[in-house]
Amino acid sequence: MSAIILNGTRIAADIRSEVAVEVKTLAAAGLRPGLAVILAGNNSASEIYVRGKVKSCEELGIHSEKLTPPETVSTQELLGLVYDLNRRDEIDGILVQLPLPPQVDAKKVLMAVDPAKDVDGFHPVNVGFLSTQRPGLVPCTPAGIIEILKRSNVPIAGQEAVVVGRSDIVGKPVAMLLINANATVTVCHSRTRDLPGVCRRADILVAAIGRAGMITRDFVKPGATVIDVGMNTVTDRAEFNRFFGGNARREESFRSKGSSLIGDVHPNVAEVAGALTPVPGGVGPLTIAMLMVNTVRAMKLRRGSEVAATC
Ligand code: NAP
Repeated sequence: MSAIILNGTRIAADIRSEVAVEVKTLAAAGLRPGLAVILAGNNSASEIYVRGKVKSCEELGIHSEKLTPPETVSTQELLGLVYDLNRRDEIDGILVQLPLPPQVDAKKVLMAVDPAKDVDGFHPVNVGFLSTQRPGLVPCTPAGIIEILKRSNVPIAGQEAVVVGRSDIVGKPVAMLLINANATVTVCHSRTRDLPGVCRRADILVAAIGRAGMITRDFVKPGATVIDVGMNTVTDRAEFNRFFGGNARREESFRSKGSSLIGDVHPNVAEVAGALTPVPGGVGPLTIAMLMVNTVRAMKLRRGSEVAATC
C-alpha cells in the first residue's frame, strides 16, 4: 500500500483564489484589507518568510506594509510601533515576525497587539476564543491543517486524533481545533510513555515535533492519515542517505543545494499510512494562505458594519 499524498500546494492555491475573489468584492465596495508585518533585525530565515507573506498580499490585492526596525531595537520602541499600528484603522492585521532580537521582551510585544488585529492568533484573548468556540483569529498553521483534512474529505468527527507536540503555535491549537471538530484527541510530548503505542491508536496523526523523520512506520496504524508539520534541514550525507537513499530527485537537489528539507515523518510511513502530507508541499503552503484568510477575517470581524453596509 502507498499513501495518498495530500497536496498542500494545490489546497493553498484554492484558498488563495477564494481570498482573491473576496478581496475583489471588497475593493468594488471601496474597502481594502491591510496587513502590517514587523521584521526586526537581520534574521535571514525571517526575511525569506516575510518576503513570501508580502508577495502573497500583493498577489491577492491585500495592502501590506513591512516595518524593519534594526537589530538594536528596544522593547519600548517595538511597543511604540505596535501601538501606532493598533490605532490605524486601515491596518487589519499585525504580524510580529519571530524570533525577535534577544534584548526584546517578545511576550510583552505580542501581548500589545490588539487581539482584533492578531492575525497570528497567539494573543491569549484569541486562545480563549478558540477554546470556548467563539469567533476569533486562529493560528495559521493549525487552521491550515484543518483545511487540508476537510478539503481532502478526511473525516474528523468521532475519529481518534493524536497530536505529537504541545507548542502554543502548533500542537495545542491544532488539538483544540480537532476537539472543536469532535475528534477524540490525545496530545503527546517528550514525557509521553510508549509514544509509538499511543500514536498507533490514531486515525489522524499530527506530527509537530521538530525532529527529522522521528515518526517511523511503527508509529502508524495502517490506513491512518498522517499530517507532517515538521520542517527540518538535513545537511549530513549519512543522515540524508538514511532517509532518501535511492531517491533520484532528492539526490539531485541535495547535491546542488547541500541540504534537503524533511518533516518529522520518516519516508517509510508512506508504506502504511492511508494519506500523508509531503514535506515540502504539505502543511507549509497553507500557513501563508491562512494568514491571508485571517487578514480578511480580521477586517470583517473588526469593520463588520462597514463591510455589511457596502457589500
Ligand atoms: P516546539 O515549540 O519546539 O515544540 C516541539 C514539541 O515537540 C514539544 O511539545 C516537545 O515536547 C515535543 N517533542 C520534542 N521531542 C520529542 C520527542 N522525542 N518525543 C515526543 N515529543 C517531543 O516546535 P513547534 O514550534 O511546535 O514546531 C514543530 C515543528 O513544526 C518544527 O519542525 C517547526 O519548524 C515546524 N513548523 C512548521 C510550520 C509550517 O508552516 N509548516 C509552522 C510552524 C512550525 P515538550 O513540550 O515536552 O518539550
